[in-house]
Amino acid sequence: MEKQKIVILGAGYGGIMTSRRLEKLLKNGEADVTLINKHDYHYITTQLHKIGAGTASDRKIAMDINELIDPYKTDFIKGTVSSINIDTQEVHLESGESVPYDYLVVALGFEVETYGIPGIKENAFDIRSFRSSKFIYHHIVKQFSLYKEDHDPSRLTFVVAGGGFTGIEMLGELIESLPKLCKEHEIPYNEVKIMGVEAAPSILPFFGEESAVYTTKFLKKNGVKIMTGAKILECTPDAIHLEDNVKIPTRTLIWSCGVKGNSILQDSGLPLIRTKLQVDPFLRVNHIKNIFSLGDCSLFMKNEKSALPPTAQVALQEASFCAQNIVATIRGEELKTFEYHHKGSVASIGNKAAIGKVGRFTISGLFAAFMKQIIEARYLFMLGGPALIFKQHFIVRNDQVKVSANQ
Ligand code: FAD
Ligand code: NAD
Repeated sequence: MEKQKIVILGAGYGGIMTSRRLEKLLKNGEADVTLINKHDYHYITTQLHKIGAGTASDRKIAMDINELIDPYKTDFIKGTVSSINIDTQEVHLESGESVPYDYLVVALGFEVETYGIPGIKENAFDIRSFRSSKFIYHHIVKQFSLYKEDHDPSRLTFVVAGGGFTGIEMLGELIESLPKLCKEHEIPYNEVKIMGVEAAPSILPFFGEESAVYTTKFLKKNGVKIMTGAKILECTPDAIHLEDNVKIPTRTLIWSCGVKGNSILQDSGLPLIRTKLQVDPFLRVNHIKNIFSLGDCSLFMKNEKSALPPTAQVALQEASFCAQNIVATIRGEELKTFEYHHKGSVASIGNKAAIGKVGRFTISGLFAAFMKQIIEARYLFMLGGPALIFKQHFIVRNDQVKVSANQ
């Protein structure tokens, strides 16, 4: 029998972990595995806010894919997926190349949801990829330089939209990085304004009052102005407009108001629900037996009413199951039903504080920040064992990741 071709799209949390699991599960010669990703590095999506604020070096967050996979077991193609043809079973890349598959894993991640709000796409910044996050940092630094020339206060007004986890984590990093930038540019810190704008009556609306109160207090103590019940209606290059005719002059709106599935899927002919691929209990795209999907571009219904959230924790657990089920399919064995086990959630507010919920317990402060570090280290362990933890923590690499416009 001809060797089966397994093609994985996306080397984020879900995709890279699926390829790592397949490397372990597949017997020699059982299948060819190809991993396709836009760039030749894997970035830790959960820490992109640090790249946005400039509080982490490039190499702490982005790692060469070829150093994470086993090149004898997985072929890596650096390429941008432009379309999927389910009739001919081919993936098309922007380069013009076509990659045939017998089994496909779609793990192309998320895109930022703008809800069609005027000016967001054009004028706001988002924490979507390594490149888009890097772009935020360069923009912030530029504002400091320009402020020295024109003293326009909108240049030093930094607004984060959305008081969900991403927005709060971004505010936490800005508190750490902006004082340093002030020092470097010899600008008094009291000329900087940091604001968090949330449409709901409270920040962290899905997380509970105790955490919201702790976070609000912590951010206020560190000079952040929090506006709740404040919906952003428009963004121009030099201001944002809220309900009740409120206008905030700013050159920097960091938009973190939710995510949706990757738009590549729209023209794929694959069945979509709310921009995502709905999957069956075995993580196969509904009614298509040789296409699996996981992570932020997929929709797994945990019950009749609600779907699993787009988190790294979900993507990682799905990756392990997905790999097992592909191997089971190839071997003609029974597939396993995916069951998600929630281990808790922790969000950082800078380096020294965090908030979280682990089981029945709500945690905050330094202990929660420590838990967050453990979670990040656990991911490195899953990806590359103790060697990767050592490399990422103790080997200093100051070389920058090259990013191109098409990322
Ligand atoms: P991603 O990790 O986004 O990977 C998608 C991959 O596909 C990327 O490598 C991308 O470059 C690639 N790709 C996209 N389009 C193409 C294309 N056309 N062609 C080729 N390749 C392509 N979740 C948690 O559980 N805990 C946290 O603490 C947490 N913190 C977060 C902090 C931030 C700032 C953000 C933004 C998210 C956070 N999340 C967290 C959510 C978590 O990061 C996502 O749920 C997770 O990354 C989803 O994994 P994924 O594999 O589906 O997508
Ligand atoms: P989110 O959906 O969790 O929060 C978005 C926030 O933006 C909401 O509070 C919403 O009310 C607000 N909003 C929407 N439109 C607005 C508007 N016009 N003006 C002002 N506010 C507006 O999205 P997110 O924070 O981007 O997170 C996306 C996913 O990633 C979630 O599933 C989240 O759990 C996950 N994530 C997890 C962590 C973590 O576990 N530490 C960190 C970051 C993200």
